[in-house]
Amino acid sequence: MNPIVVIGSGLAGFNTVKEFRKLDKETPVVVLTADDGRNYSKPMLSTGFTKEKSADDLAMASPEQVAEQFNVTVRTGVHVAGIDTDRRRVLLPDDHLDYSALVLALGADTWTPPLDGDAVGEVFSVNDLMDYGRFRQALEGNKSVTILGGGLIGCEFANDLSNGGFQVSLVEPLGRCLPMLLPEAASAAVGRGLESLGVTFHFGPLAKAVHHNRNGQGLVTELSDGTHLESDVVLSAIGLRPRIDLAKDAGLRTNRGILTDRTLRTSAPDVYALGDCAEVEGHVLPYVLPLMAGARALAKTLAGEATPVSYGVMPVTIKTPACPVVVCPPPEELEGEWDVQADGNDVQALFRDQEGALRGYALTGEAVKEKLKLNKELPALMP
Ligand code: FAD
Repeated sequence: MNPIVVIGSGLAGFNTVKEFRKLDKETPVVVLTADDGRNYSKPMLSTGFTKEKSADDLAMASPEQVAEQFNVTVRTGVHVAGIDTDRRRVLLPDDHLDYSALVLALGADTWTPPLDGDAVGEVFSVNDLMDYGRFRQALEGNKSVTILGGGLIGCEFANDLSNGGFQVSLVEPLGRCLPMLLPEAASAAVGRGLESLGVTFHFGPLAKAVHHNRNGQGLVTELSDGTHLESDVVLSAIGLRPRIDLAKDAGLRTNRGILTDRTLRTSAPDVYALGDCAEVEGHVLPYVLPLMAGARALAKTLAGEATPVSYGVMPVTIKTPACPVVVCPPPEELEGEWDVQADGNDVQALFRDQEGALRGYALTGEAVKEKLKLNKELPALMP
């Protein structure tokens, strides 16, 4: 019997394996991964200085340990080059592997807009444990970091690196912290929290170029308003895009992510997708809670009982202890208004639709305590 093949050893891939093995101990499973296959929790990458954790500290298990624990084969450093859905075959650089079912848990790619300058190759992004190890190494003996992007990842790193004693400058063209997730008053609270740690903001301009500085011992980030920011290290935290190319090239239907129905089934027979790479009935949710729900449902489907995934209320906790944030973004394109009450850095912003029903919230500071109460009032995202 051909194995179930899982591409990806992130939280989506390994949690699917873990949940599947609770239901089926025997069916052969092969995990293929382009990275080193260590099991880790990605959200921990942006709290590493606060918790004083190296990349090795964050690795919860080696690929060999995962293989033994779940009775699966884990092949590391393997970049899947293609999928032949007619022959039910995964194409590897020098080989192929036939599957009975295929799970795409490919994650998302970091995206940085084109930058000029002779030091562009030294701009870091941190999207997996291996990146994190290299980033920590680059920071050794250094003092300052420029962060490009003030979204979830940029703000979390700004807080964490400040806690680690680094001087942080953050560049955000949209003019405030977490501009895609929070209304203005909540963004301002996060900004003040991070400023209290010493973070300096450059709101408005774009990063244009990254050069080596004159003495060759640091970097200069050139902004569109003419500012030159000196720092030892530059971290790009601008954006993530679902990895869809492999699926698209194989003829699977894609949009922002790999399109699936509620059973996480793609447009090809016995091919499923979940996690950051997937668009599940229109939802692209690059967070842990949705992928855990997906892994539980998909495990049942793979074990023979087709099971749709349900998404309840999906709050996101942003790890900026200088100003705690919990946000439950309203559904995209839903018409409505934010009702904001602010007391210093304690902001409660409630998003109500045109009928007055609560459809999302953003809480900062002490107001995060309202989370459980509000979760009860919110409708499930995909019941
Ligand atoms: P990934 O972990 O990216 O795994 C993708 C896997 O696919 C990798 O193993 C990769 O090697 C493999 N792969 C891709 N292409 C190929 C190929 N062609 N061949 C072989 N292998 C391939 N979410 C929260 O809910 N809360 C948080 O606090 C939070 N904090 C975060 C902090 C940071 C710094 C980051 C970056 C993200 C954070 N997130 C958070 C988001 C969350 O971590 C992700 O949603 C989740 O980890 C995605 O898991 P995944 O398995 O889908 O993708």
